Amino acid sequence: MAMFIGLDVGGTNLKGARMDESGEVLARLHEPVVREQPEDLLAQFERAVMTLRGDAQVLAVGIGLPGIVDHATARLRGVPNLPALAALRDLDLAAEVEARTGCATFVENDGNAAGLAEAWLGAGRGAESMVFLTLGTGVGGAVILRERLWTGRSGYAGELGHVQLDPAGEPCGCGSRGCLETVVGIAGWSRRVAEKIKTRSSRLTGQKIEPATIVAAAREGDEVSIEVVDETARALGQALGGLINTLNPERAVIGGGVAAAGAFLLDRVVRDTKKCCWPQAFEDCSFRLAELGADSGVVGAARVAMRGARGRLRA
Ligand SMILES: [Zn+2]
Repeated sequence: MAMFIGLDVGGTNLKGARMDESGEVLARLHEPVVREQPEDLLAQFERAVMTLRGDAQVLAVGIGLPGIVDHATARLRGVPNLPALAALRDLDLAAEVEARTGCATFVENDGNAAGLAEAWLGAGRGAESMVFLTLGTGVGGAVILRERLWTGRSGYAGELGHVQLDPAGEPCGCGSRGCLETVVGIAGWSRRVAEKIKTRSSRLTGQKIEPATIVAAAREGDEVSIEVVDETARALGQALGGLINTLNPERAVIGGGVAAAGAFLLDRVVRDTKKCCWPQAFEDCSFRLAELGADSGVVGAARVAMRGARGRLRA
């Protein structure tokens, strides 16, 4: 069976896997990512591919990373929060890795890759169209239409974290204000808690403020925490409602670390989405939590390799 390598480049770790077409993982790799020197980062990619390949016949390599990939020009766009990667801006990374490893290589935004993984083996299985949101430090996403990833004219499609909710909101890393990410990204949760507990009592006072703690406190009835979860759900509902009206998708999937809040968050998101879109379009969309967890990045990157190899064979 044909084999593929997926590399998931994060702000802290590089994860890799060798997989076959059925989705079975045959080898894994997990190490701290080179953060500073671009040349060292490229060497790390090369080493990772060689290690995962071993003696196996690998058809292609896929790389998922926190940046925009312009497929029209094959260049990296956007400035990810990783100096070594930011320094590779405007580089054709796929061609570079391919030249070093001899393996056909394809690069994709990490949110898009995770969306492809869920569409293939996770919560998007069987759906012809899907909107996917991944909630973590940042908020990524993907749009799948007719079983294909929609990347748009220059790779910016699926950047769902940057849907603007409030023009007077917090400044966002993209240059805009009040984007979904500023509310539902991890920093957004913490900022809202910090603001509220200045004047109100909460069991969060003195605790490490992160989404898991906030959700746990909300489950126990802490009012400030419930309010923060409700605000998060409202923001997600507003964004999803707009996407549902725009695309009329069959499925909406929420993933990322924050999605570990489970049904406690999802039920609220569904309730609030219903208020923001056409009733029939809402009825026709099923809402799910992502199923692949932390594996979605590497699985998605391997899927990027499969799609790329298939496209190249066709061409
Ligand atoms: Zn933004």
